[in-house]
Amino acid sequence: MKLIITQPANAAHANPDAAARQRADLLARATVDQMQAALGFLSVIDPEAFEIAFSVVTPAADNQPEDDEAVPVCRACGAQVGIFPEHGGLDWRHYQGDGVTSGAQQIYNPGHVPEVTWCLPDENPEEL
Ligand SMILES: [Zn+2]
Repeated sequence: MKLIITQPANAAHANPDAAARQRADLLARATVDQMQAALGFLSVIDPEAFEIAFSVVTPAADNQPEDDEAVPVCRACGAQVGIFPEHGGLDWRHYQGDGVTSGAQQIYNPGHVPEVTWCLPDENPEEL
């Protein structure tokens, strides 16, 4: 069997931090059309990743978490966490406030890196 590899595959993953930074840079330079096309493509090749990404970064009225829907929280402190590209990156950040209204979140730094886990509203993240 002959393998056909048209692009070097290792370079993007040699340094995970650098790869993440490259993706963040790419996102920062992308036009709205490019982002739409990229998300459209992602929704086809990895629907689960698409749904997670979309539910985290675009809280909207029609995307309100239901009572039985898992939400991202920090295992260490139990706070809500989210990804806010408009605040300069794709890192998880602690936030306070309404998790469903765009722009209503207050990002803060509790002094530790979020330990992201997903839990249902009636679960205690510290017990996971
Ligand atoms: Zn925390």
